[in-house]
Amino acid sequence: MSVSQLARSIKASPTLKLNETAAKLREKGEPVIHLGGGEPKSKAPLDAVLNCGAQLNTGEVRYAPADGLPALKKAILRYTEENYGRMLAPQNVIVSSGAKQSIMTVLYAILEPKDEVVYPAPYWVSYPEMVKLAGGVPVAVTPEDGSFVPTVPDIADEVSSYTKAIVLNSPNNPSGILYPAEFVAEMVEFCEKKNLWLVMDDLYNRLVFDGKKAPNPYDYAKQDVSQSKLVVVQGVSKMYAMTGFRIGWALGNRELVEAMTNIQSHQTSGPVTVSQWAAIGALAGVQSSIESLRLTLENQRNVMVERLAAIPGVHVTKPSGTFYCFPDMSAYMKDSQKLAELLLERVRVVTVPGKEFGMDGHLRLSYCGTIKEIMDGLERIQWALDPQAPNELILGERKLVRDWA
Ligand code: PMP
Repeated sequence: MSVSQLARSIKASPTLKLNETAAKLREKGEPVIHLGGGEPKSKAPLDAVLNCGAQLNTGEVRYAPADGLPALKKAILRYTEENYGRMLAPQNVIVSSGAKQSIMTVLYAILEPKDEVVYPAPYWVSYPEMVKLAGGVPVAVTPEDGSFVPTVPDIADEVSSYTKAIVLNSPNNPSGILYPAEFVAEMVEFCEKKNLWLVMDDLYNRLVFDGKKAPNPYDYAKQDVSQSKLVVVQGVSKMYAMTGFRIGWALGNRELVEAMTNIQSHQTSGPVTVSQWAAIGALAGVQSSIESLRLTLENQRNVMVERLAAIPGVHVTKPSGTFYCFPDMSAYMKDSQKLAELLLERVRVVTVPGKEFGMDGHLRLSYCGTIKEIMDGLERIQWALDPQAPNELILGERKLVRDWA
């Protein structure tokens, strides 16, 4: 059997693969700590469950329009008005099966073969593969100054006549960094001037700490929505802890939304109706779960950053949002893949290698688990790496004794 060249060029999602490895080890009774995960552990909001349950009880679960249920689009428009200060029309919204499909469908709708899509590193693992799937060429830009914050000249240097779009994700997976408002403002202006699509992956923009607020790209857009190539991507996965429902959406001009709807109508016929009922419940219901999750994550971020900073040689940039941290571990090992494998093998801690996000020498650690998982996980990591750490470690039923320097 031989699969296509395109299929061969696509890597498995490393984060999903890690989940599988961790689950298999756990099945065998291994005391795995998962610091690689990408989902909050809180429950879906009650209003989401109730609305979904009530509709489900009718037993009538039918196809919905390919671009989403009108009631969900209405709830999204209200959300957009409240949180972005923009009144959009239903024709500016398309609901998809997760923000992942929203981004994928945007790319299908805008890319000609070999068009380039530029995005800063570190970047979300799926961007390069998604661009390739849509026939484009991914172009990652690593900030000149070694930080996680790109500058407009960094990006402008990589923009050529082949560039069709720029994708920005802030707060950022994996670094947790919030791009400064001036940068977002300049990028909106830059893309309007250069006639480029600007896809703002805003999935984590409600999960921001230290009293900060994620910049609103619409604040800087001068063009009318009908002319604008600004696309905002959002979803229920992270802010409402509703990852399994698979509901995301994109906001853009009518022509784009129409093209995306046509594409989606042949891909999935639209997102699952049951999940859309849940999303309506979440958007229309009590919003306190977002703040409660945000506060929990801020506290967990503090614990993780404090513990990481205590490991000699580890350089950590404090995240301003998300539930990820992206420490530089290169003092211990430059090859992040090998380091992640070593940590899993020796101390059963799951991490994601920075290489997958375009920055080797780093690891992505999640703080969306419990405080105990964070503390125990980091104790194990320190034990495995730091020669100054105590010589013994209890791992489940086993006592480990360090036999390496
Ligand atoms: N964008 C980013 C930056 C993400 O981290 C994720 C999920 N890990 C997504 C988009 C997709 O989210 P979903 O499909 O669950 O809505």
